[in-house]
Amino acid sequence: ARANIGVVGLAVMGSNLARNLASREGNTVAIFNRSRAKTDDLVAEHPEAEFIPAFSYEEFAASLSKPRTAIIMVKAGRPTDAVIDALVEVFEPGDIIVDGGNAYFPDTIRREKAVRETGINFVGAGISGGEEGALHGPSIMPGGSDESWVTLGPILKSIAAVAEGEPCVTHIGHDGAGHFVKMVHNGIEYADMQLIAEAYDLIRRGTGKSPAEIADVFADWNTGELDSYLIEITAEVLRQNDAETGQPLVDVILDQAGAKGTGAWTVQTALALGVPVSGIAEATFARSLSSHPEQRALASALPGPEEEFHVADADAFIEDVRQALFASKIIAYSQGFDEIRAGAAEYGWSIDLGAVSKIWRAGCIIRAQFLNRIADAYDEQPDLAVLATAPYFAEALTRGQAAWRRVVVAATQAGIPSPAFSSSLAYYDGLRAERLPAALIQGQRDFFGAHTYKRIDKEGTFHTLWSGDRSEIEAEDTH
Ligand code: NDP
Repeated sequence: ARANIGVVGLAVMGSNLARNLASREGNTVAIFNRSRAKTDDLVAEHPEAEFIPAFSYEEFAASLSKPRTAIIMVKAGRPTDAVIDALVEVFEPGDIIVDGGNAYFPDTIRREKAVRETGINFVGAGISGGEEGALHGPSIMPGGSDESWVTLGPILKSIAAVAEGEPCVTHIGHDGAGHFVKMVHNGIEYADMQLIAEAYDLIRRGTGKSPAEIADVFADWNTGELDSYLIEITAEVLRQNDAETGQPLVDVILDQAGAKGTGAWTVQTALALGVPVSGIAEATFARSLSSHPEQRALASALPGPEEEFHVADADAFIEDVRQALFASKIIAYSQGFDEIRAGAAEYGWSIDLGAVSKIWRAGCIIRAQFLNRIADAYDEQPDLAVLATAPYFAEALTRGQAAWRRVVVAATQAGIPSPAFSSSLAYYDGLRAERLPAALIQGQRDFFGAHTYKRIDKEGTFHTLWSGDRSEIEAEDTH
């Protein structure tokens, strides 16, 4: 038993993760895959790596030193359960099973509970960064017990991305906390991408600039407060020409966005928790809308504004869009962190939000300078209830809100959909409003369902006798 770590599942993600592990000082990596060919190929193609190939679960377990530690990288869902069951058979109490796939966090909570009963540790770890990240350094979000973190922590630190000298991994919290945070990471990624897409669309249709010219705008933005991987790759994509037609590639790509479901999970979970992640929800819905060509064809005959959209001062408009993008991005992240805060409270996890923002600074898709400002905000105020109200963000919103409003107005008048820009602004205005029309909704609920209401001027719960003499009585609190 020479290996200190093992990997089960050697498709793209697993083989890259195994190579990453093997490349780090001190690691010897046991590898196993259901079908033999992937194992043979990996060993043959990477003679430099110190792998111990196994061809059965028994061999795999025998090649690992104790406590045995194995990372599963197989298809999420039933295959993951099948591999867990097989490992539980050959592992012993104190050993550690890690699921590095994209599991839905309630599955992770369920699996952790079941595996814990055998005395074996189970850790659900979100791993972000795609195949490049798996090979060179991902951002890793592990949940699981404190006991397993003692063994697993140093191993994961050895392979994680590094941001400003710190490894992009931290023990997020118990059981499903890691996969929960990975889910919200993906949701935020949806919002970030949608906001950038809306910015591009507005600039293109408002100024008539070509994709290549807009690539320059994004490259310029990438030198300032928007500095991030997604802005950087946006410039790359916009600059790309199609070899076949000579057209900008973005003009020949079918405009129907795909999704693998993590955005939807983030929104479903937020709905259940009662957290308004409107930016993420609009981004997810925008992808859905785009991928219904039959509906879009049918609706294409509906009228839009009569006047053509053209901005008078292109540079001023582009600066407005930049401000709107930054303000909306602040809101999207603030909403995402709100969901993590609410999830932690609901599931009893102790999650350090500042530490979460720090491990997203490298290795993952939403990596950005901006995350340092989030870390600062939680450093100063660990129990901050609304991230957007932290001094740095409040200042940015103060500076940007007029431009943000101009952009949303322009988009609305021009008939250019900007669901993420405008819903973020609506959330901002709702959150800061002194009074909301929720008072009227409470009145309506009391009218049709005797749901009662509270008053601003005295304690207690009240109901108006709407179908009687319309006098007010004190009532039981029924919400
Ligand atoms: P796949 O999701 O394509 O899964 C293929 C692997 O699963 C193969 O090794 C296959 O073995 C194994 N497998 C399938 N069914 C079973 C089973 N019943 N029992 C045992 N093994 C089985 O591989 P990827 O590398 O693309 O992804 C691995 C995980 O990582 C997934 O959960 C995925 O969601 C996640 N992922 C994460 C990404 C990220 O950026 N974080 C990006 C991509 C994926 P065999 O060779 O025998 O068929």
